[in-house]
Amino acid sequence: MPDAIVTGAGIAGLTTAIALAQKGWRVRVRERAARLEPVGAGIQLSPNALDVLHRLGVPIDQVGIAADSVVLRDGPSGRRIATVPVSSSDGRGYRVLHRADLQRVLLETVSGTSGVDLYLGDTLVDLDADEGGVRTAFETRQGTTQDRSDLLVAADGVHSAAARLLGFPAPVASGATALRFIAGSNVPSGPAAIEAWLGHRRHVVRYRIDAAGTQNLVVIVPDGDPSVGPVVTWDPALAAILAAAEPVGSWPLLTVEPRWRAETGWPIALIGDAAHAMLPYAAQGAAIAIEDAFVLASCVSGGGSPADGLRRFEALRTPRVKSVLDRVAFHKRVYHLPRPLSFARDLALAVRSPTSLRRDLAWLYDWRASAGGDDSTN
Ligand SMILES: Cc1cc2nc3c(=O)[nH]c(=O)nc-3n(C[C@H](O)[C@H](O)[C@H](O)COP(=O)(O)OP(=O)(O)OC[C@H]3O[C@@H](n4cnc5c(N)ncnc54)[C@H](O)[C@@H]3O)c2cc1C
Repeated sequence: MPDAIVTGAGIAGLTTAIALAQKGWRVRVRERAARLEPVGAGIQLSPNALDVLHRLGVPIDQVGIAADSVVLRDGPSGRRIATVPVSSSDGRGYRVLHRADLQRVLLETVSGTSGVDLYLGDTLVDLDADEGGVRTAFETRQGTTQDRSDLLVAADGVHSAAARLLGFPAPVASGATALRFIAGSNVPSGPAAIEAWLGHRRHVVRYRIDAAGTQNLVVIVPDGDPSVGPVVTWDPALAAILAAAEPVGSWPLLTVEPRWRAETGWPIALIGDAAHAMLPYAAQGAAIAIEDAFVLASCVSGGGSPADGLRRFEALRTPRVKSVLDRVAFHKRVYHLPRPLSFARDLALAVRSPTSLRRDLAWLYDWRASAGGDDSTN
């Protein structure tokens, strides 16, 4: 039985463990944290990610709620600009939930999957490899543990130790910070739809994350001015929710150049934020990590060596990730336009029908992974 070590038990690592074990791998997940705390706040999961989770048997429909559209608003006036449907062409829906609930259903699936062992309190500190396998060292509560596996999957996030040990540059600041808030169900709840208020160098996203009406808010602000600042004057409805919301924390938004490395021939894959941390302007970081996990497991299980599988994996993922990163950059530009350019944006969006706006994102949301890891859309 081939065996893999996965570093990191975030969204990417847990999904990879499930996908590899279902393909007959023995998997050891080694996670730095001593306990898996319910960190983070709300998360949106688009149909491309939900399709993978369904294929893997993750009971994702038991958590969060469905959302059918994103209502775009001009921030400073609160005026509705357009409504963008978020289902895929085949009608697969979109969900909004707390990240802790996603982590919980992934963990439940991991514990119901044979062949996966999860170790907490294990920090990757060293690695070495040749074409036949990978040697790793982890700092654990008992001291340093050496390990060896046929495959190493680095799912250890944007500050990936594996990436650092492999010589990749550190992540860089994007110039923006995300301030996150949760409002309780006692705060007047908006519609089930996701709402986004767009402004110069700032925007706000709000959505409900459960049937009780708990709401998630993300306020994106420039690094030099990390307060909600003018946002509270934009729209009385938004100001009311923000006034009653509890801060969850602030996240400096970092980026990396995609970290691909299959050409070395070493059986080491980087996935999720470790490979291509994405700014949250298209809500795709976790979704693309989930896609990565599924395609990786398919590619390294289709015969041939893990190194051959990784070449196939990166050949499939490189164009997909580039397209998503391009879309993220486009959203960033368009969301944060100053006046009067924002008026032209609003006009261009307002004249389009919801159906035509949905078509812009069909390539993203209609993506489906066949069991062979072929990522053509269907
Ligand atoms: C404000 C904000 C909003 C977002 N909204 C969305 C959204 O709506 N939809 C969406 O799809 N994405 C969203 N994202 C992106 C998403 O949160 C990330 O892309 C996703 O969580 C990345 O998962 P990951 O498993 O790759 O990394 P992480 O979640 O960072 O997990 C990495 C894991 O590795 C562990 N680790 C780190 N170092 C080591 C080590 N040396 N040894 C062992 N373990 C280690 C960490 O403890 C952690 O558990 C958002 C991001 C932000 C900042």
